[in-house]
Amino acid sequence: MAKYIFVTGGVASSLGKGITAASLGRLLKARGYSVTNQKFDPYLNVDPGTMNPYQHGEVFVTEDGMETDLDLGHYERFIDENLTRDSSVTSGQIFWSVLNKERGGAYNGGTVQIIPHVTNEIKSKLYSIAKDKDVVITEIGGTIGDIEGQSFIEALRQFQWEVPREDVLFIHVTLIPYLKSSQELKTKPTQHSVKQLQSQGIQPNMLVCRSDYPVPMEMRQKLAQFCNVPAKYIIQNLDAESLYQVPLMLEKESFADKVCEALHMEIRKPDLADWELLVKRFQEPEKEVSIALVGKYIELHDAYLSVVEALQHGGIAHNARVRIKWVQADELSKAGADLDAIFADVQGILVPGGFGSRGIEGKLLAAQYAREHDMPYLGICLGLQIAVIEFMRHVCGLEQASSTEFDPETPDPVIDIMADQKGLVQTGGTMRLGHYRCALKEDTKARAIYGAEAVEERHRHRFEFNNRYLAQMEAHGMIASGRNEERDLVEMIELKNHPWFVACQFHPEFKSRPNRPHPLFAGLVGAAIARKEG
Ligand code: GLN
Repeated sequence: MAKYIFVTGGVASSLGKGITAASLGRLLKARGYSVTNQKFDPYLNVDPGTMNPYQHGEVFVTEDGMETDLDLGHYERFIDENLTRDSSVTSGQIFWSVLNKERGGAYNGGTVQIIPHVTNEIKSKLYSIAKDKDVVITEIGGTIGDIEGQSFIEALRQFQWEVPREDVLFIHVTLIPYLKSSQELKTKPTQHSVKQLQSQGIQPNMLVCRSDYPVPMEMRQKLAQFCNVPAKYIIQNLDAESLYQVPLMLEKESFADKVCEALHMEIRKPDLADWELLVKRFQEPEKEVSIALVGKYIELHDAYLSVVEALQHGGIAHNARVRIKWVQADELSKAGADLDAIFADVQGILVPGGFGSRGIEGKLLAAQYAREHDMPYLGICLGLQIAVIEFMRHVCGLEQASSTEFDPETPDPVIDIMADQKGLVQTGGTMRLGHYRCALKEDTKARAIYGAEAVEERHRHRFEFNNRYLAQMEAHGMIASGRNEERDLVEMIELKNHPWFVACQFHPEFKSRPNRPHPLFAGLVGAAIARKEG
């Protein structure tokens, strides 16, 4: 029988519920428990795949090709497990499934209602993910009181009576604000938020209090009294220097031991040695490099969350701090832009994934700059397509080479829509998604970087390299170093006569973990260090 932990949020959004849930996962895994994380997102989109990054930040892709909330990235990085579509549940999916059942006659003429049909559908997602796991940690997106969240909260209220009571734990993450004028921490918003949860039939067992200052014992006692939560189960969660420090900070608060106690689980000594080591390497680096990240949502760092994290992991691999210089793609293509000045203080350039035509000219200039100046370059997805277009235009002499994504009429569609994507009308969940095998060519940088003959990586795109141009590209020195043999697709490219110019059609950032940095990011950082050290 699995134990179920539910993480809800109150008072404000962006309190780091996802990091709390992910950290708890790490702490329980460090105690030898098998753990999985799950997110319930109350919005009506079926998945975030069709949402604008301004609305949602990054879309994280699982091995099995589900487009999910970026919190799944935190979970995977913290618990170091590959999650599946079972870990990502939205209201959109729940209603979709209920309505399809209704159309199929599954409800035998009954009136279809939130209770029991929608709530049953939600509960089924808890049972189905729990197989073979000791602990399931389910985070409920949004803030308590949100209308969309109500059917999820109601489902949890029912669920707590369907399994043994000691197998369920509710953790409420709240904010203890600090009032500058009176110089004190305030508990009232938390009291109100807990009352709201209680009014929906849920009594939290534990509070995790985000605060800028330590929450003193008297204050915890006061909260305990008003919220029906034992004072020892009120945990403070202060700001950490880095995300990866949060599990260690929560360990100092005995968070996981208290969770085990409350769930009648054996209290075990954690093994956090490797985590402590990576945090130490991260916080006390010996070197520093700067990488330019050339994107179009650079004011919104969450849009590139996994790329940023993977760059940090690449730094951990070399005991180096990676500073990211955020470069707005459009700035590069403005009249009079001084690329030498913009790239003077970086030792590497990264062009991440993207969609649509804004910023393309600037990204092309970035790839050209890296190619012509022996600057390490990592292109990811769109970043590969950009590198190919730039090379075909300026080295192979196909001046109008482009992708049919931004120039449907180009005479040289070096990047073109995949055959199986042509004519698709539905935009949701229809890209090439999830993991595919990529065979690595002998005597290439790719093969050396990975140290393997083949790898599996995750995809999310509609366009691909057009094989018609392969011979011409390779003859000029850009090699297809990784291929999907089954579908005959170019998955990786690299420049022969360049210190480190590598690009991939997949998204390696989704598989990078702080304790297992991805070879491509470690490789980029290594090449940047080499450039810096001459
Ligand atoms: N827009 C490009 C495509 O669909 C690249 C996608 C991406 O970078 N994820 O192929």
